[in-house]
Amino acid sequence: MCILEDKNLREIDYLRISIIDRCNFKCLYCVDEKRDYEKELNGDYLRVEEIEHIVKLFAKIGVSKIKLTGGEPLMRKDIVSIVRRISKVEGIKKVTLTTNGVLLPNYLEELIKAGLNSVNISLDAIEADKFNYITKQDVLESILTNIKYSAKMIETKINSLIIKEINEDEIIRLVEFAREIRIPIRFIELMPIGCGTGYKPLRQEEIYKVIVDKYGKFTESSESFGNGPARYIKSEENNITIGFISALSECFCSSCNRIRITSAGYLKACLHSRDSLNIRPLLGSIADEQILAIIKNSIYNKPVQHNLLEEVSKETKTMIEIGG
Ligand code: SAM
Ligand code: SF4
Repeated sequence: MCILEDKNLREIDYLRISIIDRCNFKCLYCVDEKRDYEKELNGDYLRVEEIEHIVKLFAKIGVSKIKLTGGEPLMRKDIVSIVRRISKVEGIKKVTLTTNGVLLPNYLEELIKAGLNSVNISLDAIEADKFNYITKQDVLESILTNIKYSAKMIETKINSLIIKEINEDEIIRLVEFAREIRIPIRFIELMPIGCGTGYKPLRQEEIYKVIVDKYGKFTESSESFGNGPARYIKSEENNITIGFISALSECFCSSCNRIRITSAGYLKACLHSRDSLNIRPLLGSIADEQILAIIKNSIYNKPVQHNLLEEVSKETKTMIEIGG
């Protein structure tokens, strides 16, 4: 099997692809309501054939796990076809999706048949007013129903982002919901990128304290429930599994295994660097072997580490283009 490494000997096997730069939510840390995305972002996102071609190229050099993200990936009417085509690519072992969950029942059965392996659903509040305030959508009840439905059908995880003075008081409610339906919940630390720069993250140790104060001691778990750098803790007694993805508190750059493709086809070796490589015009215009050499060179030079404790992200593209 081919192994793709950068110059710091990090093995890269995980590709996140943003397949659309539109979203039906307006999460306050992700979408800037003052900007006109319809005008600014050209909406000319990768076609299904291009996505398949890109996945074939990356599979040849060692990528085996694909995450489809966005914007809201389920806004793509051809989402089932995208999953079907990429899950059949030789070398691809896992195709997963991150979604706000609102359109999930429309597609889930078909997605599973097409080869989808797991779903992450973003949920930052259980209290309706807070959910509406964060997402600007009055759909909490359907999201909770959809998460329960998803948990019965496919491996499902909840991803929650906790912001100081906004949804700190939702932590236990979120954990209780995940516990009730027996699925893992992961707390993602807010990063200073895009609209996220306007808010303060609740740090990993602060979230941990709230949880331990409520439930008592947890044990570190060596199990991995996802593709990336989450650290997990477990309480067998309380039947709870919690993950932390903490880019600031616990910088995981030294073991980063991920690269990204934006909705417009730019390869990003690091989320927080402005460097990117537009691979879309290369597809079909030069030989695949030549494209692979260019891609490998870009990944080889993946930046060593972000510097988010000292400064905000250097990246100025929006999170909906990059996919988080
Ligand atoms: N719409 C889908 C969703 O919400 O899951 C997929 C796209 S969204 C950009 C992917 C993830 O990025 C979400 O879990 C969201 O919470 C996270 N995200 C957005 N802005 C962020 C930020 N500034 N820092 C950390 N995570 C962020
Ligand atoms: Fe949309 Fe996801 Fe961003 Fe929320 S976090 S605005 S659901 S892309």
